[in-house]
Amino acid sequence: MEHKFESTYFKTDKKQTQGPQARCHEWGYKNSHAFFVAFQAGPSYYEYSCYRDPSAFLDAYAGVWEAERCFSEQIREGQACNEYYDIDWTLNEVSDSSSSTIVTMEQQMFAAFLIARNQHAPDYVVTNEQCRVLSASNGKMVSLHIVIPAYVFENNHMHMKAFMHGFHDRRTQGQPSEDCQLLEHTDMGVYSKNRLMRILGSHKSRDPSRPLKRAEWHEPSMVAEDEELLICNVGPDCVKVTSNAQEVTVKRGEHSQLQESRIARSSLPKQIVDIVRAKYMQTPHATQFEMQCITDRAMIFKLQRKAKGHCAVCEREHGRDNSYLRLAVSGALFLHCHRSKGPAGVKLCESDFALAIDIETATVLQTPHEPLHADTIDNARYLTHYFLAQV
Ligand SMILES: [Zn+2]
Repeated sequence: MEHKFESTYFKTDKKQTQGPQARCHEWGYKNSHAFFVAFQAGPSYYEYSCYRDPSAFLDAYAGVWEAERCFSEQIREGQACNEYYDIDWTLNEVSDSSSSTIVTMEQQMFAAFLIARNQHAPDYVVTNEQCRVLSASNGKMVSLHIVIPAYVFENNHMHMKAFMHGFHDRRTQGQPSEDCQLLEHTDMGVYSKNRLMRILGSHKSRDPSRPLKRAEWHEPSMVAEDEELLICNVGPDCVKVTSNAQEVTVKRGEHSQLQESRIARSSLPKQIVDIVRAKYMQTPHATQFEMQCITDRAMIFKLQRKAKGHCAVCEREHGRDNSYLRLAVSGALFLHCHRSKGPAGVKLCESDFALAIDIETATVLQTPHEPLHADTIDNARYLTHYFLAQV
């Protein structure tokens, strides 16, 4: 325990049974302190402290030298927080950090974000003026933090997280690829318990040249008070977002369980799946869909759409997921469309004798070996391959 920056800081102490974070939380609770911070004292070494409220911290922070400004606010478990996003984009080509290219990318990313955000939660519309945009971009990456002080979530690790999962599910279900790209660059890992998020004007201890600062091109952020750029400064006029977070969490759980149990691994042997995939990749449809396995339907493969395109089954343009692959016992591969009224699919690959043998062998091995009756249709075929498989 050490007194600095006008508060009590807890650091690692081997004599203590509790870690510095836990001791800080306990002390903060006793002293009715509501604003928690972490100070990065070394590359991977943090000290923890808390202040009465955000303004008490900002008063103390004003007196901290720039070189020592390595502070993060801690979004306490169970504590309300403003809506926020952490978006990072690594650049392929290194450019000048002050260049107009970076500014243009930040602006484009922000514009795309705003559209996607409002499509996800139209009941809680966010305007450009309500956003606070912070940048830590350099020549190698574009990095934005967006805080929306107008909206508040009950907590970070459940409510804000559920909201984000809903956002993610919606955007990745057959939406234009640009939106998906935006979400790929949105850090979904920040919606966790006791998350640390960097504070305006602070840098990582290793990288003092890259402090988090207001995005200069965003006027509302340039004129905003410092308080408005904190995630844990919940004002009295904040609107609480209640997206039935609990319900979303449950739905999400069911959804992903279903997805995980059905899509993941085929019951067919890997070598067959590999052959099917290799064949599929040779077809022009591979640019539109990614092939996925479904556990309980071995001969069907889900096609997850990557881009909109022409449907060979119904001869129309489709923008959403709607196709699947069917592997015939002959080894032939067919493309089907959920939107097509007719049952017929389009043949993508001809029968393949070697593959047919593999399929039958695999199928026989998985089928419970009930005694075969002479009148069972095609029993000769099964018997043959059953014995082949035993060799
Ligand atoms: Zn179609």
